[in-house]
Amino acid sequence: MSEAKHPGQCRCGGVRIEASGAPLVTMACHCTGCQRMTGGAFSLSSFYPEDRFAVTSGETVRGGLKSGPDHRFCPSCMSWMFTRAEQIEGFVNVRSTMFDDAARHAPFVEMFMSEAIPGASSGASHSYEAFPQDHEFPQLIASYAQWDGRVKA
Ligand SMILES: [Zn+2]
Ligand SMILES: [Zn+2]
Repeated sequence: MSEAKHPGQCRCGGVRIEASGAPLVTMACHCTGCQRMTGGAFSLSSFYPEDRFAVTSGETVRGGLKSGPDHRFCPSCMSWMFTRAEQIEGFVNVRSTMFDDAARHAPFVEMFMSEAIPGASSGASHSYEAFPQDHEFPQLIASYAQWDGRVKA
């Protein structure tokens, strides 16, 4: 079975990305760091194994903080595109809003509600005050795969 391709791009189109198939889970993060980096009330992400994600044209630069997670941005339009981190080695957290079919990547889990802007709602069905515990992720991923609102491929 060949998996559906999910192409995407930054605001200016200088960097293009592509993911294959469905993400493992989709998330909204309401932390103040994501608020500042997106300029919005929360960030949206689609969690993919590294081997199902590629930058297909252009190059990214590091943004955010100089230590910790490696947040990648378009060097021209400065869109925040995806993140890699030691804690999620082998996976990449793609900013769902970069995908051409972003509307299909509805968030399933929302986190850092303790820092959320009042009234800002992601619509996610699983809500956490901070980050979910490590042991909760396998269950969240299993639940996402059964969810009607998931990315189907
Ligand atoms: Zn750009
Ligand atoms: Zn965040």
